[in-house]
Amino acid sequence: MLPIYKTERSQLQSDFDALAAITEPGRPWTRRSFTPMFLDGRRYLKKRFAEEGLSVRVDAAGNLIGRWQGEQPDLPVLMTGSHSDTVPSGGRFDGIAGVLSGLAAIRALRQAGYSPRHTIELVDFLAEEPSEWGLSCVGSRGIAGALEHQHLSLAGPGGQSLADAIALVGGAPGRIWDARRSDIGQFIEIHIEQGPVLERRSVPIGIVTAIAGIARLRMRIEGEAAHAGTAPMDMRADAGLAMARFALDLRAAARKVEGKGHFTATIGIMRLEPGGANVVPGAAEAIVDIRAENDQAMDDFLVLAEHLVSQAARAEGCQVAVVERLSRTYAVACDPSLRDSIAQCADELCLETLALASGAGHDTAFIARIAPAAMIFVPSRDGKSHSPEEWTDTEAIACAADLLARTLTRLDAKPGRPSL
Ligand SMILES: [Zn+2]
Repeated sequence: MLPIYKTERSQLQSDFDALAAITEPGRPWTRRSFTPMFLDGRRYLKKRFAEEGLSVRVDAAGNLIGRWQGEQPDLPVLMTGSHSDTVPSGGRFDGIAGVLSGLAAIRALRQAGYSPRHTIELVDFLAEEPSEWGLSCVGSRGIAGALEHQHLSLAGPGGQSLADAIALVGGAPGRIWDARRSDIGQFIEIHIEQGPVLERRSVPIGIVTAIAGIARLRMRIEGEAAHAGTAPMDMRADAGLAMARFALDLRAAARKVEGKGHFTATIGIMRLEPGGANVVPGAAEAIVDIRAENDQAMDDFLVLAEHLVSQAARAEGCQVAVVERLSRTYAVACDPSLRDSIAQCADELCLETLALASGAGHDTAFIARIAPAAMIFVPSRDGKSHSPEEWTDTEAIACAADLLARTLTRLDAKPGRPSL
């Protein structure tokens, strides 16, 4: 029976408080990647990593990594972590919860005198959120070997290249391939759920099944612009109404996708042309965001959406001018055996768990390309995220950190696959 390693709540709280104070003052809580504020946050993390006995470095892709050397350095690395950057006016927990709970778990293990066989690493991935350079998950892409030359030449504020921005945070874009890892045995990321499910069900721990794939479509319906006062109601081709009809049909169809895991369809952008209060819309454009845990469900729905939009257009005497697939990523499954290990450890700690998919993207999706990877979710109050109202109790995060500590020792006790 493994001993229970309990995270020190007061230290975790003081780390959260310290990071929350490192924010753009007029815009809490903002710590955008590559900014001086971000570097201040990193300075704090570097100091704390070192205080907990980790050796600290910044890799070629600008990731901050704390390393606890194992007794058997040839065994693969057990890695945990998340990101310390935020969206503008974001929250105090998205990302940083995974870094600080990793630190808390390591602190608990070290203070109990635990000595790992495997090397344990804690990572603060660079720029998980989309930055001014338009690319998300910069650091985890680097570790996965997915940071390409064309990414490095992306231009940001003042025309500065992403390569220069990475150099500014201590990375080495000239030898970006050095960031690529082949020695990671397992990776676990703790993250706030950013949705309402765990809270509504009063379950403290979510074990992520998969990170949803995302598709975006641009739809354009054309009708006939006309005077809002003189065109009779039965003599119109109102493109706005056609798009509204499509939006309702899309929702109904998305709700009918059952038994295929997490599935959402959303229209977050809708524009009418010419856009006058006294004009019947002659054209309507919408961007459709579709997320699916199951790639086949996504494929089927993409075909259905095209059918629905032409049906809606026809019903209003309009026509579909454009259906464009702007982007498509595939779902990433979390490693089943790593999920099992987490679930078993949660059981032993009497923490109830719920299997659920992530509708949001995460660094784990990139790390899963090179190593078995999994995610632990903690509840978000009212499901709010990417806003100043984002909240998770320290106790809830500490429970996940306890679970992480236990899972790390469990993985550490297993015979590891040899380093590649
Ligand atoms: Zn995040």
